[in-house]
Amino acid sequence: MPKTFLDLNILNIIKKLYTISTEIIFPYYCYRCLSFLNEQSYLCQNCLKEINFGLKIFCPKCQRRKPISEKITEVCCANIIKTLITFSDYEQPLIAKLIKEGKFNSYKEIFIWLGRLISTEIKIINLKNFYLTYVPTTVKIEKERGFNQAKILAQEISRILNLPIFEKIKKIRETEFQSHLNYQQRKENIQNCFQVISSPPKNLIIVDDIITTGTTLFELAQKLKESGCKNIMALTICR
Ligand SMILES: [Zn+2]
Ligand SMILES: [Zn+2]
Repeated sequence: MPKTFLDLNILNIIKKLYTISTEIIFPYYCYRCLSFLNEQSYLCQNCLKEINFGLKIFCPKCQRRKPISEKITEVCCANIIKTLITFSDYEQPLIAKLIKEGKFNSYKEIFIWLGRLISTEIKIINLKNFYLTYVPTTVKIEKERGFNQAKILAQEISRILNLPIFEKIKKIRETEFQSHLNYQQRKENIQNCFQVISSPPKNLIIVDDIITTGTTLFELAQKLKESGCKNIMALTICR
């Protein structure tokens, strides 16, 4: 056996043992109150209540909260995105902090956990015939962060609810961070930065972490519509 192969094997075993031992020695604690958790999670049931996590659906145009019983393809206002599916409020400091922590300190697991929470909530809506997709980032940003949080969320929801993913969208140029830009600047910043590279399915849910002014999601929805998509929804953790 070549020496390098053996070395690699030993390294893998050590890594595995390390992971197992840290899980035993350092079990899961609530990110907020440090209480012990039985399962891999970030918040205990009490702290979870604070972020008021629950399925809410809205008309993205007039902001009307729709009853859950209403079909997500039903609309009150003409709009490219027919329904916004969301779960918490970005004004809630705890959820905002968790999302920032995940994004800027590269904790991918936070988004896997949020994807799990979302899946439990949305399974009551009929999503039959819907595909998921996500707001893409450029290869450069994905490399820097190590992942794209929108993609992680979509993949986790897809895995749990068995929904197919449409991945043929690219972000073709870098854009500026939107937070310090006004609405008009955001629109110009994001214009034509997405490319749909093959014909999309008719029914699609675009996943992203948060929606603020909605310029990114609408720009992408516009491109998807031009490529033949009929029913476009958006799904975000927060609004
Ligand atoms: Zn807690
Ligand atoms: Zn409306």
